[in-house]
Amino acid sequence: MPFQSRRKPTAHTYLDNRVIKSQRENKRTRSQRARQRLETKEHLARLAVGLGEVELADKIDRCHSRLSVLTCGRHIARVIPNFTCEFRLCPDCGRRRSRRLQNKYLPIMRAFMLHNRVTPVHLVLTQTHQKESRKQSAKRIKDSFGKLQRRQFWNERFKGGTWSLEFTKDKNGFHHTHLHVIGFRRHFFAIELLRAEWLAVTGDSYVLHLKPVQDIAKGLQEVVKYVSKPLDIRRFGAEDLREFLKLKNMRMFGTFGEFRDFCKDFEPSDDEGAAVGELESLARDLVEGCACPKCDRPLFDLRMSKNELPQFYERIESFAPE
Ligand SMILES: [Zn+2]
Ligand SMILES: [Zn+2]
Repeated sequence: MPFQSRRKPTAHTYLDNRVIKSQRENKRTRSQRARQRLETKEHLARLAVGLGEVELADKIDRCHSRLSVLTCGRHIARVIPNFTCEFRLCPDCGRRRSRRLQNKYLPIMRAFMLHNRVTPVHLVLTQTHQKESRKQSAKRIKDSFGKLQRRQFWNERFKGGTWSLEFTKDKNGFHHTHLHVIGFRRHFFAIELLRAEWLAVTGDSYVLHLKPVQDIAKGLQEVVKYVSKPLDIRRFGAEDLREFLKLKNMRMFGTFGEFRDFCKDFEPSDDEGAAVGELESLARDLVEGCACPKCDRPLFDLRMSKNELPQFYERIESFAPE
């Protein structure tokens, strides 16, 4: 009975909460974030044990449990884990996944924009909240987006882009599934027209947000964040995990339209490769004895357990920035 109970999403509280939430997140220090990742993983492992998913719990437990930290003593150049669980809800693996996506897609996006003279926008598509499973909710919004892409209005205004899924759940147990789209806009149009199109394909929702992306690197970072952190796991219960495990093969990120074809053919030139993730690729080549990219002091390899990492970050944070 999918239509048994529904509520209209409120247009503005969503974005307001979003902003407050990300401001709060930005204020946290690295040590606080590292500690939180530890807690999240312990919580996940406990839930997994409760569901009899012992193997999963063990993997989460081992993931990033021993670390090799390349440091000059004042800066951290690189953290290399002994093992990665690759579980979708693992915050450590999520960060790695989102960095991989950024490194892969940023040069393609830059090249695409250059070749096509399109402007990127960040579009958030929402739908009515219904009593349904997470899977149904995700399928519903993806189907609507598929319909939108087949419409003339959309094709005349967008030249493809990327999409990613964000899941949240409210106190009443309603799933709020959003699609975050980086769309390459051909030309400006009135937002009301897009609302009408979205209503036409969903049948009941016109709520969406659109904002221009000034800096494509930041825009991409913002949308892949949801791939790395699809949910607020600390409020997660056993049932949520059980439900999430059913989503195993569901895609959370994808490309569409002409951008999708462009990705298939894209081979980075030396220039374009260098323009992206410079620090990332630089860090990948660092080994013990290399100069610290921040201060030139030699790097050494410090071995530590996962529980020691937050403390180490604290020590680093206690030094005044040079
Ligand atoms: Zn992991
Ligand atoms: Zn240094």
